Amino acid sequence: MIHFVGAGSGGADLITVRGARLLGEADCIIYAGSLVNPEVLQYKKEGCKVFDSAGMTLEEVLAVMEENEKAGKDTVRLHTGDPSIYGAIREQMDELDRMGLPYDVTPGVSSFCGAAAALKAEYTLPEVSQSVIITRMAGRTPVPEGEALRKMASHGCTMVLFLSTGLLEDVERELLAGGAYTAETPAAIVYKATWPDEKVFRCTVGTLAKTAKENHITKTALITVGGFLGNTYERSKLYDPTFTHGCREASR
Ligand code: SAH
Repeated sequence: MIHFVGAGSGGADLITVRGARLLGEADCIIYAGSLVNPEVLQYKKEGCKVFDSAGMTLEEVLAVMEENEKAGKDTVRLHTGDPSIYGAIREQMDELDRMGLPYDVTPGVSSFCGAAAALKAEYTLPEVSQSVIITRMAGRTPVPEGEALRKMASHGCTMVLFLSTGLLEDVERELLAGGAYTAETPAAIVYKATWPDEKVFRCTVGTLAKTAKENHITKTALITVGGFLGNTYERSKLYDPTFTHGCREASR
């Protein structure tokens, strides 16, 4: 069996209980060494083979999986954060389907959740934003035209940008071109969320590039943008004493 497992955003104890169990049972682990905290490998059993996929092609990864499967061994394909976000798992699963090899998926804590924890923030504040856009700046990997950053930025909701830290001048320009944010809209750069060397830089849309430059942040960071980083919001209805819902009558 082949198990795709989300390693979580960094901290080795953020992997799920199921993920850690699968690591402990695996005969072979193929992990994304560029981003997965190697400390997570502490859960592996003795004799488990370990491959770092950072220097491997899709074909090489599949060849290792196939060889293990033929030998009746268990493989864990360990992805950073949650595998469904920029994880390139679909192309692996489609090939495994074609080869007739069985697999399953165990989710993980995505770095966008790790970043919210680092910021001690809530992305969906009442009367501020009830939506989170997860996207990236177009770079060497293109983004479909309908999802151009300036279009996504026209909503003014909470945004989390992956894979964009090297393009922050472009990010600033596109965020402002959307028309909903201003140069003063709060923003934050979260570097290595939930890792021991996590760093948080609070800034504004207009100072994103400068802040990253001053602090030498070029990768492994998320850019978060929006009023959720500010101080104005409404109380939730759920815990409002004057609001009745399925589990509680209004008390005043
Ligand atoms: N599947 C992963 C994302 C992989 S894409 C997830 O769910 O988090 C890789 C990008 O994710 C990096 O370029 C960076 O933008 C972001 N990233 C991954 N881990 C991070 C972390 N701990 N802190 C901040 N950003 C992170």
